[in-house]
Amino acid sequence: MGLIRLILLVILGVLLYRFWRNWQARNAATRSTPTQDQGKMLACDHCGLYFPEQDAVRDGEQVFCSEAHRAAHRQGQA
Ligand SMILES: [Zn+2]
Repeated sequence: MGLIRLILLVILGVLLYRFWRNWQARNAATRSTPTQDQGKMLACDHCGLYFPEQDAVRDGEQVFCSEAHRAAHRQGQA
């Protein structure tokens, strides 16, 4: 009976160890590639700053990093 319990403990230990390693590998992978799934980057037409597409302030064909730069660009044109 003692031997079976020992074997079960070893199997449990191995499973826990593999689970822990898997979890660590997944954690490291998500940490090393934080910008991979953020989509396209766009450049502001006013200051040239790069920012994620979902943060874009659009004005027709042009894109800006912020509402302030869209306003500033419009004033510069007029
Ligand atoms: Zn800008």
